[in-house]
Amino acid sequence: MAYLTLKNINKIYPNGYHAVHNFNLEIEKGEFVVFVGPSGCGKSTTLRMIAGLEDISNGDFLINGKRANEMGPREREVAMVFQSYALYPQMTVYDNIAFGLTLQGVDEEVIEKRVQKTAKILGLTDYLDRLPRALSGGQRQRVAIGRAIIRKVGIFLMDEPLSNLDAKQRVTMRYEIAQIHRETGATTIYVTHDQTEAMTLADRIVVMKDGYVQQIGTPYELYYKPANVFVAGFIGEPPMNFVRGTVKNGCIALGDNALDLSRKLKDIARYEGKELVLGFRPEAIALGAQDGYVVNCRVELTEMLGDNTNVYVTSKEQQAILKVDSHDTPETDADITFTIPLESVYLFDAETENVIA
Ligand code: ADP
Repeated sequence: MAYLTLKNINKIYPNGYHAVHNFNLEIEKGEFVVFVGPSGCGKSTTLRMIAGLEDISNGDFLINGKRANEMGPREREVAMVFQSYALYPQMTVYDNIAFGLTLQGVDEEVIEKRVQKTAKILGLTDYLDRLPRALSGGQRQRVAIGRAIIRKVGIFLMDEPLSNLDAKQRVTMRYEIAQIHRETGATTIYVTHDQTEAMTLADRIVVMKDGYVQQIGTPYELYYKPANVFVAGFIGEPPMNFVRGTVKNGCIALGDNALDLSRKLKDIARYEGKELVLGFRPEAIALGAQDGYVVNCRVELTEMLGDNTNVYVTSKEQQAILKVDSHDTPETDADITFTIPLESVYLFDAETENVIA
């Protein structure tokens, strides 16, 4: 039996807005699950329904197989970390971390031990006497995490916990959150709009859009086997290139190039005259003419990122981004050839946007 079960969960706000549609998910104990999607897609609403901070309009939420829709947040044994940290400004780091235990009337000595242990995990030992205002953003977020993990609850919920940090701090905290999860083994549900955070932290990712789940899978599955155009374009940086076109004589046009789709899909004949979307990832190409779809194009711009370079190319108004080894960066305005290996080509139905090959 799964630890947490969400069965056909829906959220309709009092103003009639249907924010979450038929959300289904089973979460195992100890799993790290990330809800990802653009702003407004219903991630926080779903998390808040799990936390007990928001009513579930319909559907069932089960903890250990027991219906939990009507349980209060305390009974659910959840701890939540918010984007805003929500620290008590007049309390020291020690008191902020200890707060939940103090409220529960836990013995002072036990509290002391647990605060010290938590502070050690989070690298806050030297800051216990400070007030939050004397801490950096990253340190404040650590205190907020400490306050949550010290309670040893079953479910750890995090809503965009890194969004107030700068890019460097985010990378460090991401690593620390992964370490904390490894050490505590707590079942974690983490909300973010950042696909890199989702990919790096998650055991499983739930991709959402407009209140609907688009796909649930491991980072590997979402990257290599996207279910539709949305997931394919959302996961991966720079995003997947898409070429929309009508199938003519079994081919789709990419600029000046006719790509023979029968090499990818045996029964391409049934799509003759229909519109398809062909996708390929910027990093999945090889420069030069090799085995696969060979494409001729012109280099518009290059962006050096270190070991690799983004190359913006066009072919007859159609644009694509290629990610190449910086040592192989072509000149701007050069005419170049690249190859998309067949196994790196995705085909989507243009109408449903679902993957077909
Ligand atoms: P996300 O976390 O993915 O950014 P939210 O779950 O916060 O999205 O919101 C999902 C949708 O529900 C948004 O369109 C938002 O405007 C709407 N929404 C959120 N809270 C309320 C509310 N209290 N009343 C009405 N609509 C709301």
